[in-house]
Amino acid sequence: MSYIWTLAEQANGHLKQVSFELLTRGRKLADSLDTKLASLLIGNGVSAEALRELIQSGADEVYYVEDPRLASFSCETYSNIMVELIKTYQPHTILAAATSSGRTLMPYVAVKVKTGLTADCTELDIEETTGNLLQTRPAIGGNILATIKTPNHRPQMATVRPKSTRPPEPDADRDGKIINVPFKEEWLDGRVEFLGYRKDAGDFENIEEADIIIAGGKGMKKAENFKMLRRLSDSLEGMVGATRDAVDRGWIGYSHQIGLSGKTVSPKLYIGAGISGSIQHLAGIKTSEIIVSINNDPEAPLHKIADFAIVGDLFNVLPELQKRLEGGK
Ligand SMILES: Cc1cc2nc3c(=O)[nH]c(=O)nc-3n(C[C@H](O)[C@H](O)[C@H](O)COP(=O)(O)OP(=O)(O)OC[C@H]3O[C@@H](n4cnc5c(N)ncnc54)[C@H](O)[C@@H]3O)c2cc1C
Repeated sequence: MSYIWTLAEQANGHLKQVSFELLTRGRKLADSLDTKLASLLIGNGVSAEALRELIQSGADEVYYVEDPRLASFSCETYSNIMVELIKTYQPHTILAAATSSGRTLMPYVAVKVKTGLTADCTELDIEETTGNLLQTRPAIGGNILATIKTPNHRPQMATVRPKSTRPPEPDADRDGKIINVPFKEEWLDGRVEFLGYRKDAGDFENIEEADIIIAGGKGMKKAENFKMLRRLSDSLEGMVGATRDAVDRGWIGYSHQIGLSGKTVSPKLYIGAGISGSIQHLAGIKTSEIIVSINNDPEAPLHKIADFAIVGDLFNVLPELQKRLEGGK
């Protein structure tokens, strides 16, 4: 039986958290099929210790392709590597993260190896009778969950939302193989030169990493009022999130958008102010540990799923919260 693969990600030689989350998904699939789980990593400067962490977190094998010119993501170069390794090793299934690089790379690779790809899966399973991957994702604006199969082509490919599952508990005694794949010059795409990353006008925040998020919706009324959320998030050492309606109105940048067409977050504390709680927004916050809703409509759907529902005018509640936080209460 061919292997299940996950595509690990790194930045500046450090493995990203999502690399481990994918191992939780991959391990379950590999166990159902009684096969092995391998993690593929393309990058530079990742320590042997970090590679071993992938083994400790569930991988049986790690394929590491290393070169200084692979330090930053390049779709063409990374896909050249993946296509060759797929042809050599013929994995059963490949899971990648629905991050900007995963979302860019996987469709590119899928087309080149002539297979299907399901983006943004929330559930993955194996169909008992066929061994096909059951790839479940929200569809039609989040109103239904569609389960998609790739019965005729291999590998089966899917991207998975970051933070939609927890990373495994590492087991220091787990054994596995680290395979350093020799780098080939021909993989480099000569047409692209990496110059550096530009963060959008100072309004970029990696809210997926936040432990505390204060999010605002259309009830915030205008961009200016987001300063209240920023102040509160600064006091709590959190980050600011938003609904699509707030982002579409230009009140805050897209990197803050939470939900089906934004980011999936999993903070310890999520506070939503002036947010109704549409199904599309809830899709991005459902793994939060504690949800607080501030809304003057007692029937707001966000109140229904909140651990603490504050029925009131946010323009009174937020300043009061700020005052109490600053007063150390
Ligand atoms: C395909 C698709 C993808 C989508 N993706 C996303 C997504 O990723 N993320 C997302 O968020 N949405 C998404 N949406 C949009 C979604 O359907 C909703 O339109 C959106 O989430 C509503 O945003 P909101 O809660 O800010 O606005 P509203 O639904 O208008 O809610 C505003 C809330 O503010 C409350 N309010 C008003 N004034 C006050 C006040 N003074 N004090 C307290 N409360 C007040 C109101 O009672 C109301 O409940 C998507 C839609 C589609 C069709």
